[in-house]
This record gives sequence, C-alpha cells and structure tokens, in this order.
Amino acid sequence: MKKLSDHNFENKKALIRVDFNVPLNADFEVTDDTRIQAAKPTIIKILEDGGSCVLMSHLGRPKGIEDAFSLRHIVEKVTEILGVKVNFVADCIGQNAEEAVANLQSGEVLLLENLRFYNEEKSGDVAFAEKLSKLGDIYVNDAFGTAHRAHASTAVIAQFFGEHKCFGNLLAKEIESIDKVLHDSQKPVTAILGGAKVSSKIGIVENIIEKVDHIIIGGGMTFTFIKALGGTIGSSLVEDDKLDMALDILAKAKEHQTTIHLPVDAVIADAFANEANTQVVATDKIPDGWMGLDVGPETSKKFAAVINDSKTILWNGPLGVFEMENFAKGTIALGDAIVEATKQGSFSLVGGGDSVAAVKQFGFADQVSYVSTGGGAMLESLEGKTLPGIQAILSQYKTA
Ligand code: AMP
Repeated sequence: MKKLSDHNFENKKALIRVDFNVPLNADFEVTDDTRIQAAKPTIIKILEDGGSCVLMSHLGRPKGIEDAFSLRHIVEKVTEILGVKVNFVADCIGQNAEEAVANLQSGEVLLLENLRFYNEEKSGDVAFAEKLSKLGDIYVNDAFGTAHRAHASTAVIAQFFGEHKCFGNLLAKEIESIDKVLHDSQKPVTAILGGAKVSSKIGIVENIIEKVDHIIIGGGMTFTFIKALGGTIGSSLVEDDKLDMALDILAKAKEHQTTIHLPVDAVIADAFANEANTQVVATDKIPDGWMGLDVGPETSKKFAAVINDSKTILWNGPLGVFEMENFAKGTIALGDAIVEATKQGSFSLVGGGDSVAAVKQFGFADQVSYVSTGGGAMLESLEGKTLPGIQAILSQYKTA
C-alpha cells in the first residue's frame, strides 16, 4: 500500500485532500470536529518531516460561491486542533492560490477555499484537476468520506502526480480495517446488520455472505424476514416487494454455512413515538396495530452470546429506533457486548451512518477497535466495490 511513510516530505509541499465537511451552527461554529481531528496525524507527520501542507476540502453543497459554505469559517478551529497557524486563501485554483502556495514555508499549513465552489470538482473535470495539481509536489488522499466519488480532487487529480502520491494515515487505517474484516479476518466473523431496510443492505449481504460465519439481523429489516417466513408483524416496517429477496438470503446463507440470527422477541409499540404503550412479544406474533421498534431482552442475550464467541465483528446499523430512549436498549446492549468482546481481544469495526451515530451517542466510540469516518464509502467498500479515490492512488485513475 502506498503509505505516508513511503515518502520523505522534507521541503516538499503536500497537497492533501481532507474531509473537512463538518457541521456548522447558525453562528458558523463547528459543532462536531471529529473529521478535523481525524486528519491531524497525517498533517502533523508531514510538518514534522519538514514539509508543508496545502489542505483542500469541500464543505456542504453550495450552488456556486456562497459565503455560508466558505471554509474560512473553520480556520480558527483547524488552527486550534493542529496547534499550528493555518493560512487561508479564498480560492482553490488560480493565481491567488498559486501565490499562497509559493509563499508557504516548511512547517506551515494553508487551507484552500471550498472545492465545490466550482462545479468542475463534482463533475471530475480533468482541466480543473490539473489546475489543483499545481498546488503541491506530492498528492495525499486522506478523505475516506469522499473516496467513493470520482471527483476532481479525490480521484482525477492523482494522474498528475505519477509516483508522488499516497494515502494519508486515516485513509490507510480505513482500508486496513475493512481488510481485517473482509479479507484477513480471524474467525469466527460476525456481521451485524441493522437499520431500516433490507433493500439498502442487500449489496453488503451479497458480498459478505460467503466471508462471514454469522450474520445478525436487527432493526426494521427484521420484519421483512419474519413476514417472509410466515410470521405476523402487525404494522411493523416491511418491504413487501423484498420478501423473496429475504428468502433468497436465508437460502444462500444455508448453502454457505453462514448462520443468520433473527431476533426472537421484539419491543412493540402502539405508535411510532417514545411515549407509546409498549410490550415485549415474540417477533413473529405481533398483534394488529402494533409495531416492532426494538429487539427484546431474550434477543439481546442471544446476540451477546454470538458476539462473545466472535473474533472479528462488523457492525452496521442500529437494532432499533435508538433515537428514542425507550427503543434504544437493544442497540445499547449490542454495543456493550461488542465492547466486551473487544476487551477480550476481538477486532471490532463499526461503520456506516447510524451505527456510528449510535456508538458516539452511547459512548462506545473509543472502546471498539475502529469507527469508520465514511458512511457511503464504507457501505460501498463492504459491498465489495473498488472506490475511485483508493484506486487512483493504487494505479492510474483514468476518466472515461
Ligand atoms: P439505516 O440508515 O438503514 O442504517 O437505518 C437507520 C434507521 O433505522 C434509524 O434511524 C433507526 O431509527 C431506524 N430503525 C431501526 N429499527 C427500526 C424499526 N424496528 N422500525 C423502524 N425504523 C427502525
């Protein structure tokens, strides 16, 4: 793998694609700096080598140049986190940007203006990528969150750097973690798939079904399986057009000797609300007018036992409507079991949208082996797709 440590950055200008797409409040203050913190090790390593850093990122979805999406709003925060003064230039290409880069000394950091002020960024425009490429000697991609996009700064640009390109530490860690689960795993391997719908997880199931020993199913998609198996699910979430797909998954799992674990009991509610009346029933005997919003205590016990026996654990998607306190218990119990297994030496990777939100909300984030920073990129990796941002570093990424 082309790592940061393969390059000597002394007196070199590193052009780093970071993911500083951070949430801002109405006063343009950063409300969650995880992504900036995540890029810090790469930046510091280059500065310590005696190089300088030119940081490029997108922020939000601006339509042309919009001050609300200017990266100048985050300069103070980045300075605070890096502990190094961060210079800012109000463009990401052109004369001003080139001059700012020319004036940059070893040990200094420059942040370019939002890449998405130019439509050419998202369209993967080659001429735009070439202009960006003039702003550094070595290209470093450390933005896993956008690695599944073939944008100018994430993939197309790499062709202008020949051998002078590599992954940042964050992106390298993401790749290693996925590898540890899918290709280089210690058995038994357990994947936990929760969340709302089967349809959004089918790509993952198809890719992992031969690679893992256990698949734990939870969340709203449980009920498509239960209904397909002939159970009664009341008004629980269901995808009626995916019943056959659910049966196919069960059959395929059997064929590959992968055990699928479905919830045996559910916390059901008479409305989709935290204050709704609740009871615990068997997952396949949900009365009319009631819906399953969390796994029940018996299920939590069974799932914890599977996790306890696993050496490699992948968690994608909550087991219930964890945003509501009364339906968060199953997700919390699962998190506890994963933390416990991690303490015993298992490798645990949490990735993809809402499970990341859940581990953060419930305080598990630093007690699992790795929490992925990329939602869509993580999902596509788990689906077995080659991400353009990764391919571009490993080989030449050619635009069609
Ligand atoms: P996903 O983005 O597919 O991972 O889905 C995450 C969402 O699924 C969260 O917002 C959860 O509230 C929701 N969810 C989990 N379990 C259920 C359930 N039993 N019924 C409805 N929604 C659920």
